Amino acid sequence: MKKVTRRSFVKKIGIGVGSAAILTPLVSFNHNTENEEKNYSGKKLNVALCGLGRYANILAKGLIESNFCQLSGIITGTPSKAESWKKKYNIPQKNIYNYENFDDIVKNDDIDLIYIVLPNGMHKEYTIKAAKAGKHVIVEKPMAITAKDCQEMIDACKSAKVQLAVGYRLHYEPHHIEIKRLGQEQVFGKVRLIHASLGYNLTGTPLNDWHLKKSLAGGGALMNLGVYCIQSNRYVLGEEPISVTAQFAPKIMPDLFTEVEENITWQLNFPSGAVCTSTVSSNCNIDRFYASAEKGSFELSPAISYGPFKGRTSEKEFNFPVINQQAAQLDGIGKLIINGQQLPSHISGEEGLKDMKVIEGIYKAAETGEKINLI
Ligand code: NAD
Repeated sequence: MKKVTRRSFVKKIGIGVGSAAILTPLVSFNHNTENEEKNYSGKKLNVALCGLGRYANILAKGLIESNFCQLSGIITGTPSKAESWKKKYNIPQKNIYNYENFDDIVKNDDIDLIYIVLPNGMHKEYTIKAAKAGKHVIVEKPMAITAKDCQEMIDACKSAKVQLAVGYRLHYEPHHIEIKRLGQEQVFGKVRLIHASLGYNLTGTPLNDWHLKKSLAGGGALMNLGVYCIQSNRYVLGEEPISVTAQFAPKIMPDLFTEVEENITWQLNFPSGAVCTSTVSSNCNIDRFYASAEKGSFELSPAISYGPFKGRTSEKEFNFPVINQQAAQLDGIGKLIINGQQLPSHISGEEGLKDMKVIEGIYKAAETGEKINLI
């Protein structure tokens, strides 16, 4: 009988992906499981990072701490980065690629998964290339810059029989798991109102930064930050939004924001009657989540960055250990792929597509001044 290596096994389990949706809206945070995972000594999922910018550096630290994944390869267009990463992370030369020879990765059995950490406008092209090379994919948020692109990425991964995840790190973060529980289990009754906002002051950003270019970023604050607010609304309520109104704010830095929006505010309506308001901004700092329910409230502030987060309900404070969010996310994904299981729907490409449809609705609402139906 042919020996099934872990690598051939990881490949095999791609078969059938997308055939059955697994609905697991709540992930539990459990210290016993955490200790068991720390002692895991089996084979690890071999991950290649594609695009070695700011966030890839943070992911590399997560990969070092991960129990189920390891940094095995890189894809970079900058030879000096190839050299420094090779030395720093002990990456074999044969696992180092650039954008010209990317497709050769199909022949490399030492890479199981490619993690796309490129500017948003490049996510589609490289996700599809990775899928065609037979590799599982994690793509950073936002999944792409249009819903049509998200659908093409989902289709490419399905036809290549590889798994596709979006880098939704907060799904593995204990404070967020708790607000999901408080909302979905209606611990304080039905949630009526959520306010979730995120902003970073980008004063001084160089004019050539890709975040300011429509073709590479897809948009401004909404494209880069909005997904966190939309996600928190959806997983705390356990509902899908039905309509949206939205407004762009006047630009304070018009020289910087020539192609994309600087600030945008929106109001999402949900079937239960809940209303969720958000502002995402590139001219001020804010990082906050607040939910008001029938019999109380719960909030996080800071809420969305890398923490440490602070939680409070109308009754008491709640705080969990500070974790490496990237390691937790990589472990959650790596463990399932190694064990031949399908990734849960709440971090899937379909989830990224749902968020992108909401983002498109928000832009349409702000551009037209109309209330836009989302269903
Ligand atoms: P970055 O600018 O620091 O890195 C982007 C990388 O892409 C660089 O290494 C750059 O050299 C490379 N690149 C290749 N072709 C390029 C081109 N044509 N133009 C510009 N860069 C090019 O950006 P980042 O902050 O690391 O963001 C990368 C992705 O990660 C984005 O999609 C972003 O939304 C996402 N991100 C996610 C989180 C999170 O918490 N999940 C945090 C930050 C960024």
